[in-house]
Amino acid sequence: SPLQIADVPAFAARIRAGDRAALARAITFAESRRPDHQAAARALVQELLPDTGKAIRVGVTGVPGVGKSTTIDTLGSRLTASGHKVGVLAVDPSSTRTGGSILGDKTRMQRLAMDRAAYVRPSPSAGTLGGVAAKTRESMLLMEAAGFDVILVETVGIGQSETTVADMTDVFLVLMLPGAGDELQGIKKGVLEIADIIAVNKADGAGAGPAKAAAADYTAALRILNAQGGAWTPEVLTVSGREDQGLDALWARVVACRDLRAKAGELAKRREGQQVRWMWTMVEARFRERLADDPRLAERVPALETAVAGGELAPTLAADEIATMLGF
Ligand code: GDP
Repeated sequence: SPLQIADVPAFAARIRAGDRAALARAITFAESRRPDHQAAARALVQELLPDTGKAIRVGVTGVPGVGKSTTIDTLGSRLTASGHKVGVLAVDPSSTRTGGSILGDKTRMQRLAMDRAAYVRPSPSAGTLGGVAAKTRESMLLMEAAGFDVILVETVGIGQSETTVADMTDVFLVLMLPGAGDELQGIKKGVLEIADIIAVNKADGAGAGPAKAAAADYTAALRILNAQGGAWTPEVLTVSGREDQGLDALWARVVACRDLRAKAGELAKRREGQQVRWMWTMVEARFRERLADDPRLAERVPALETAVAGGELAPTLAADEIATMLGF
């Protein structure tokens, strides 16, 4: 008989048992725009909450072409070979904006896609960055409840997506290309500030030398920034995702970062803060939906905007009127 998500305890049991079809279905509900689907997914997440939180959650970012999918494919395969269950999620706001996706292509991560101990899920493609991220968060919890003990959340550094992903993970990994001299100028300083580990990829063949040089530059840049504070000092290393070099060392440092934070009490705090910020992000999203959906408001807003733009109405007064219309 078809699985009824309305039967929350039974559905939750299937997910706890690691049933992939049930997991896929639950994630589809979490990603759905239909309010009844979303409500069902939320009930499921609530039911499964005690089974979540046991995975190591790792954010992975880097410019298109740096080798994210190649590296995740190789690293993830190594992890499943050593007994882990690896979930891969993506936050790709470009898929919302343009209808095309930088990360969603299913042919990426071919080994992991075939791996029964892995589950690769492309980015949800509807909504704002905040909306996409909320769905990814729920998917992460569902995967954890299904027994995935490593969650990799991939994003391209577009807009605020790195910050958003850093705010749902325990450790944040930034992949860089060799040739840092040019890259350092182009790269957003913000990324260096939230990086726990920088891995210069493509450190193979003719790339080995430049990768080492780039790593030295990033090490120097991190020392100048020295932004984070806290137990962990950001580190730089070189890898080759394609040639499978340095990935054991990379993973060891990811785990070291997580363990150090856990020992210092920072991991629990970080996750607590993430949960509370997530709640408020959702509240703000609801308010924005209310704003967008209110028909009286829709009628009145153009006139208010015109008056404010023309300098005839003080923005504060216009805001008061809108708030009053919303019942505040
Ligand atoms: P993404 O856009 O960040 O996901 O990058 P991809 O994983 O799709 O890789 C982009 C290109 O770089 C592909 O042609 C890969 O084969 C190549 N590539 C990825 N990792 C490495 C690596 O470690 N060494 C070399 N030489 N090429 C790599």
